[in-house]
Amino acid sequence: MQHDFSHVTTWVFDLDNTLYPPSDALFDQIDVLMTQYVMQALNLDEPAADKIRATYWKEYGTTLAGLMERHDLDPDPFLDAVHKIDVSHIKKNTELRDNITKLNGRKIIYTNGSKGHAENVTRALGIDDIFDGMYGVEHAGYQPKPRRAAFERVFALDGVDPTKAALFEDDVRNLEIPHAMGLKTILVGPKEDHPFIHYHTDDLTDFLSRLVA
Ligand SMILES: [Mg+2]
Repeated sequence: MQHDFSHVTTWVFDLDNTLYPPSDALFDQIDVLMTQYVMQALNLDEPAADKIRATYWKEYGTTLAGLMERHDLDPDPFLDAVHKIDVSHIKKNTELRDNITKLNGRKIIYTNGSKGHAENVTRALGIDDIFDGMYGVEHAGYQPKPRRAAFERVFALDGVDPTKAALFEDDVRNLEIPHAMGLKTILVGPKEDHPFIHYHTDDLTDFLSRLVA
């Protein structure tokens, strides 16, 4: 496995449900806040807001992308509101910290959330100071993963050579285009079989420990 990654000079990490597990229940909070925001912004009841969010997620990639394209919504107030979450129950993850630190090369975070959200969550995990860059949806001109233009924009900003990079991500949809661009792809979460997934793990810390051993 290590040999398969020996060419990698940049390690790209998604944030939510990748650097922490779904059981930490952070994205659950964002989900609730996004539905509340949609209810208010579009004057809908909760079932209607959930329904429209599901549609936008499927058609546009994220709730925000759908709101922007269909309703010309201002993204920054949305991002501020939906990332006001409680992280006080999150424990520092020293094992994850040690393993990421041992990786050779640049380590960056790229999330469909905001950079401020990435800073907030990684601070709670005790890993905020070990990354060389953090990028949010704002760095991709508010275009979400999995759009190719979004990946291209963030990779260009950081100077990532896709053929020398690896991507850890829990959303299967966000691995297909990076694979086509030349990245090594690692699905973090429940196993799925797709030709564009090189590796799978449901335990990021354990996967990294074998990679840096
Ligand atoms: Mg994620």
